Amino acid sequence: MSTDIKRAWGELKRRVSECQKCGLCKKRHNTVFGEGPEINCRVVIVGEGPGADEDTLGRPFVGKAGQLLTGILENGGRIPRKSLYITNIVKCRPPENRNPTREEAAACDEFLEAQLLLLHPDIVVTLGNVPTQWLLKTTQGITSLRGQWLDWRGIKLFPMFHPSYLLRNDSRSKGSPKDLTWQDVKLLKSKIDELN
Ligand code: SF4
Repeated sequence: MSTDIKRAWGELKRRVSECQKCGLCKKRHNTVFGEGPEINCRVVIVGEGPGADEDTLGRPFVGKAGQLLTGILENGGRIPRKSLYITNIVKCRPPENRNPTREEAAACDEFLEAQLLLLHPDIVVTLGNVPTQWLLKTTQGITSLRGQWLDWRGIKLFPMFHPSYLLRNDSRSKGSPKDLTWQDVKLLKSKIDELN
């Protein structure tokens, strides 16, 4: 990694850790910047915001939903979690795990944009309605968008269900959210292989 890129990452992390641009800074214990390979990153996963476990540890997707996400990627798609960069549209926990507001997402957007610019991935996977609708600027829901190859500024965007939704909808029957997610992660793996 060049010194300039290293410096840009360092500066971005510092700015997020000190950020008070929206009200979510008031109750956070930690900012959750994101984690994963900062060079040669092919796929970035974008969720909506940190939950309680993430706020405590300062790491993305480490609670129950995160464990399910890891299982889906690694068992369903044979995609090592460590090969992906994982972040959220807001870097501080929304209280009571509510969705981030548009104002909060807008305040935090420059950080996500900077991360995506530095990473320059081939694929962005959005998890659930909030990041999908935010990046695509659409009101269309995740049920109709999931599993499709869409476009975000020339980068392939692939929406999938959020693992928290799957925790609340545990059925594995044909056509269930879990069944569809299993199909989606296989499509994701095929695309990654195709791009290699
Ligand atoms: Fe800053 Fe984003 Fe945290 Fe709001 S959510 S305080 S914009 S880092």
